[in-house]
Amino acid sequence: NELDLLQLCENAAKHMSVTFKRDIEIITNGSDFRLLADENKLKQVVYILLDNARKYSQEPITLELTETGRTLSFSIQDRGVGIPEEDKDKIFDRFYRVDQARTRETGGAGLGLSIAKKLVAAHKGRITLDSTEGEGTTVTVTLPKTAERKAQKDEK
Ligand code: ATP
Repeated sequence: NELDLLQLCENAAKHMSVTFKRDIEIITNGSDFRLLADENKLKQVVYILLDNARKYSQEPITLELTETGRTLSFSIQDRGVGIPEEDKDKIFDRFYRVDQARTRETGGAGLGLSIAKKLVAAHKGRITLDSTEGEGTTVTVTLPKTAERKAQKDEK
């Protein structure tokens, strides 16, 4: 279905900020953010990434949307603990969590990012990670505007 990615992100950010009393700033260049995609799947992706950003940081979180000719992307940036170099390849694996001692308080099974990766792949999109230990993390999801059509074609 056609959906508005900006609206979806705004709703998720609002819900998360009320629930966890955290500031989430949304930045956009005022483009058209409509695309063909599975709303429930994308909602899950946004929630997983916002939930990680709030679990592993204290300061305000930024959600930036960008539009290019054929794609839409959103980046969720936190200024938190960051991810050590040696873990970056593994955090998209199922059940992988960085250093139990560091993450014990936050709980979690280590499934969020592996699920997000699958949901993005189902839309023929990409998910990338940019993180510096002790400084923070940015996760970016890029989706073709015709994501859903591609996902459906694949299922046939
Ligand atoms: P859950 O299954 O509830 O999502 P989780 O947060 O541990 O649990 P993932 O979302 O898969 O699982 O994340 C895997 C690991 O990657 C986390 O345990 C954490 O160590 C690290 N991580 C993920 N996002 C961030 C982030 N924004 N900042 C720092 N570390 C992160």
